[in-house]
Amino acid sequence: MDLSATMELARSGRLYPSLILHGADEAERRAAALELGRCLLCDPSPSDRVRPCGSCRHCRRVGWGSAGADAFHPDFQVLERDLKTVTSVEATKAFLRGAQVTPFEAAGQVFVIASAETLSGEAANALLKLLEEPPGKTQRHFLLLAPSQFDLLPTLRSRSLAIFLGAGSRPGGDGVARAAAELGQALESYLGSRHAGELLAAATVLKGSAKWDDARSRAPWEHAATIALECAGGHADPAVRRALLALASDLLEAPRLRLRGIPPERILEGAVSRRLAGLALADAAP
Ligand SMILES: [Zn+2]
Repeated sequence: MDLSATMELARSGRLYPSLILHGADEAERRAAALELGRCLLCDPSPSDRVRPCGSCRHCRRVGWGSAGADAFHPDFQVLERDLKTVTSVEATKAFLRGAQVTPFEAAGQVFVIASAETLSGEAANALLKLLEEPPGKTQRHFLLLAPSQFDLLPTLRSRSLAIFLGAGSRPGGDGVARAAAELGQALESYLGSRHAGELLAAATVLKGSAKWDDARSRAPWEHAATIALECAGGHADPAVRRALLALASDLLEAPRLRLRGIPPERILEGAVSRRLAGLALADAAP
């Protein structure tokens, strides 16, 4: 699941109550939370139907609070880490009490936990309890921001939709665009020729020059997923886009297979052929 697909779900009112925004860097995660918050609270004028409109009284005030008095919306609340390395249970419970009341101005409420990876065990359980027994019928959304979804408790992950925002800015960012273009070319050749060798070429592009030695490292998988996401973003065909997004999501799950001792090449080839080989068949159908 990526951010633009998530925004579509938000617009249609079908978004999951709890979302994990992970990957990228902190600034990008915060920017994504603002964008999603505006999308959820926006009340556009009839001439300006796209949410977020960016100009209504809700859009203009969704912000981090600290950025000035203008950037404050009572139905968009942010919990920051209060201790050095932990978001305490006291602060979390006080924050979640905001979800016991009806919205002040908007039709729903958005609660952002800025460093969800630092939630103490008790704090995470308080949040879980609220997700399991939501008070009243108000539309509430909880946005949990974290470097990786795997930094959160499994119980919290299983109740949330994870949205990967990309591998973040690190040296070699240009390499992603180049690799995405190469992946696109390999896929085009495959769709044209249906030679399995072209799928192997696609897997090789995903493998790239990342560091695969450490089986516990998620970084190379996040890098490969970012290449697939970038390639999906540049593709016009919705079936191909969907397949690439599914591939990206498989790659993010792949560290588990790697820990079982399966070599990265095998995992990459398996994921590529599972998600992309079928495209040629659909393409070949009359
Ligand atoms: Zn608006």
